[in-house]
Amino acid sequence: MSTLPTTTVPESATQRAAASPDELGGSAVANPPLFPTAELLAELQEQSQRLETAQPIEILQWAVERFGDYFTMATAFGPEGMVLIHWLAKIAPKTSIFNLDTGYQFPETLELRDKIQRKYGIEVELKKPELTVVEFEQKHGGPLYKSDPNLCCFERKIKVLRQAARGKHAWSSAIRRDQSNDRAQAAIVEWDKKFHLVKISPLANWTKKQVWGLIMKESIPYNPLHDQGYTSIGCWPCTRAVLAGEDERAGRWSGFAKTECGLHSRD
Ligand code: SF4
Repeated sequence: MSTLPTTTVPESATQRAAASPDELGGSAVANPPLFPTAELLAELQEQSQRLETAQPIEILQWAVERFGDYFTMATAFGPEGMVLIHWLAKIAPKTSIFNLDTGYQFPETLELRDKIQRKYGIEVELKKPELTVVEFEQKHGGPLYKSDPNLCCFERKIKVLRQAARGKHAWSSAIRRDQSNDRAQAAIVEWDKKFHLVKISPLANWTKKQVWGLIMKESIPYNPLHDQGYTSIGCWPCTRAVLAGEDERAGRWSGFAKTECGLHSRD
């Protein structure tokens, strides 16, 4: 992988004063650091527009060439993530890939990590929260996913991703624009202020049909729960199979207004 030329001057004194690099995390604590200067933002916008009509594998190729060892990918082992891993195995198998191991994942989900290792020789790193599930539930007087799933996701996903992203410049998500109104706004390449990283979404323009078409055509491993009506899979307490005619993400946080864990929401 190549290393990259980088722009390192913070955009404004106001921004510098607002938070220290340590508080910003992500690329602010990388060596060299990367900040969202006007120059960088213009580059991201230009590349995003250029890559709008590119194939997802070309977008990934651009990301690994532009960001080299500073590029990482987070995966929940969903079908879209499996497709990206399949391509990364071809073009950049040494890319750092990690999973947010909340402690509440289905065994079938975690088994995919072993399948990926066997098929591609890629070791997906499990990033865990500070507290075990037992310690976490003791601290909160029971399962937090029942009373405050937003806080639960914050503690067991967002904070863990922030930690995992420290020292990186860019991360890849596997979101598709047609998954939700929020995701519909995703650019192919953009600045992600929540994690202080460049965010790349190679599959933004793909459909569920295209993803599954490739999985079947190229025998890409997938979570067997998908064959049991689980269209979108997260932690087991917050995931159910969907009924005929329901939205593909209807089985996530069913009974709550919540639709996203917060990793991809634009707030
Ligand atoms: S998906 Fe559910 S169990 Fe997993 S972190 Fe979020 S609230 Fe907690």
